[in-house]
Amino acid sequence: MWISSIKNFLLDLLFPCFCVSCGKEGEYICKDCLSTIEILEYQFCPVCEKRVIDGKTCKNCQQKTKLNGLFIAVAYKNQLVKKLINQFKYKPYLKELCPILCFLIITHFSLIGNNTMDILKQGILIPVPLHKKRQKERGFNQAEEIAKHLSVKLNLAFCNNVLIKIKSTSAQVGLSSEQRKKNIKGTFVCEKDDRIKGKKILLVDDVYTTGATMEECAEILKQAGVREVWGIAVARE
Ligand SMILES: [Zn+2]
Ligand SMILES: [Zn+2]
Repeated sequence: MWISSIKNFLLDLLFPCFCVSCGKEGEYICKDCLSTIEILEYQFCPVCEKRVIDGKTCKNCQQKTKLNGLFIAVAYKNQLVKKLINQFKYKPYLKELCPILCFLIITHFSLIGNNTMDILKQGILIPVPLHKKRQKERGFNQAEEIAKHLSVKLNLAFCNNVLIKIKSTSAQVGLSSEQRKKNIKGTFVCEKDDRIKGKKILLVDDVYTTGATMEECAEILKQAGVREVWGIAVARE
């Protein structure tokens, strides 16, 4: 044990880390800065964005979405959260930020309380996949890293390579909601696999923007025989 603390001590000495927000040495985000992030205490409907009480997509919107419900930990307009996500998924690719992003999600789960554990129970975590070309460029899939970490922390099953992105999409930035939907159509496939048939899927992504990506994934998963799809993301734009 003391060997590993000495090792960590030496690593910190040689490669010190700094808070991405205030620059204080010691942690990637210091406790003071972390405590300024407002974590959402409620769930909102994926379609109309109204607050929902039981966590489920509201009755009026159930026909318009394949998502049974959606968990979003924080608002993306929070500049610090934006910074954390950007430094994680773009250069310098600070993978050490993944546990912090997961901490935001897990705190969100505990803040909503109620039936959250019932919803998550026996769920299978599946990341929104990247096209293999994009994943090769980045070296990892940020949604997969988050899903894997959540799986360890929450003791939930994790399943990869069943939902696959077969076509790369041009950047979604600047597109309208309708254009995004069109852009993403037909870019995912899902095998009819016993691991997911009749199961509850917890679909994980880093940022939820218009929902076009999660919506398309949810539709493909349900076509493959999945029973329920719940979205989980760190932030909503
Ligand atoms: Zn700080
Ligand atoms: Zn609604």
